[in-house]
Amino acid sequence: MSSNQDAHNETTDQLVFQNPVTRYEAIEPPKQDQPEPGLDKTLEPKTDRGEHSYRGTGRLEGRKALITGADSGLGAAVAIAFAREGADIALNYLPAEQEDAEWVRDAVADTGRKVELLPGDLADRDAAAELVDQAVTALGGLNILVNNAGRQIAVEDGLEALTDEQVEDTFNVNVLSMFRLTRAALKHMPAGSSIINSTSIQAYKPSPTLLDYASTKAAINNFTKGLAEQLAPRGIRVNSVAPGPFWTPLQVSDGQPKEKLPNFGQDTGLGRAGQPTEVAPAYVFLASAESSYVIGETLNVNGGMPTP
Ligand code: NAD
Ligand code: MG
Repeated sequence: MSSNQDAHNETTDQLVFQNPVTRYEAIEPPKQDQPEPGLDKTLEPKTDRGEHSYRGTGRLEGRKALITGADSGLGAAVAIAFAREGADIALNYLPAEQEDAEWVRDAVADTGRKVELLPGDLADRDAAAELVDQAVTALGGLNILVNNAGRQIAVEDGLEALTDEQVEDTFNVNVLSMFRLTRAALKHMPAGSSIINSTSIQAYKPSPTLLDYASTKAAINNFTKGLAEQLAPRGIRVNSVAPGPFWTPLQVSDGQPKEKLPNFGQDTGLGRAGQPTEVAPAYVFLASAESSYVIGETLNVNGGMPTP
C-alpha cells in the first residue's frame, strides 16, 4: 500500500499529531492529458478529497452553501468538508463533469445532509441568476457562497500566442461570473452569511505561462477586499483562499506545461503538492461563525511559499 493510500485511512491519533512533510507522499504524476475540463475519475495518481480523512465537528450546522466547481479537486474537498460540518450543499459544475459530481454526492451521502447537483456553464451570462434560484429552492435559502470554479490554460509561446479569445474566456469564467453569481446570491443572503472566493498564489507569483489566469487571480483578491468592505456593515463577510500547488484535474487539462507535471508542487517548503482535503479547513474556518472578525482576508494555503 502506498503512503498516499495509508493517508486515506488516517487514525485520529495521526490526525492530531502528524508531520505535514510526510502526511502525503511527494507525487510524481505520469504523463497524461485530459480535455478541458479534466476529471478526477481519470486523474493519476488519485487525490485525497477527504472522503476517508476529513472529520467534521459541527462547525457549519444548519448552514446552506452553494459551491461552484464542486465536482472535483478543491471544490469537491470543500463540499465533503462542509457536509461533514453539518451544512446542506448545492454543487455547481459543468455538464461534462456529471460523473465526478455524482462521486461527490455519493461521498457525502452518509452525512445525512442535503446535496443538490446543479450542472451549468458559468460562462453563460444567464447561468448565475438561474443557479442561485435553483440553489435557494433546493436548500430553502442560502448563507454560504463559495466562488471556486476556474479555468487555467497554460500558453508556452509567449504573449503573442495568447489569443484575445482565451483571455476573454478566462476572465469571463474566473472573474465576471464571480460578479454575476455574487450579485444574484446577495438577494438571498442574510446577515451572518459568508462569501469565499478561490484565488491563488499566482495572484502574487505569476507563472510566465499563465498571464491571463494569474491576472484573474489578482483581480479576485482585489474584488474580495473591496466587496468585503462594502458588505461588512450588512454583516456579510467576504474572504478568499489562495492555494499553492494542489494536485487536481485542472493541472492535466492544459493547466500546466506537460514537462512540469512530474515535479509538480516539489518547490514548496514541504517539498510536495497539496492534496485537496488539505485546503478544506481554510474554507470551513472562513465559512463558520468563529471567524466573525475575519474580513477581506486572503488565507494562503500553499505548503510554505512566501506571500506578501
Ligand atoms: P478542478 O478542475 O477540479 O476545478 C475547477 C472547476 O471549475 C471544474 O471542476 C469546473 O467544474 C469548474 N469550471 C470551469 N469552467 C467552468 C464553467 N465555465 N462553468 C462552471 N464551472 C466551471 O481544479 P481545482 O484545482 O480544484 O480548481 C478549483 C479552484 O482553485 C480554481 O478557481 C483554481 O483556479 C483554484 N486554484 C487551484 C490551484 C491548484 O493548484 N489546483 C491553485 C490555486 C488556485
Ligand atoms: Mg471538475
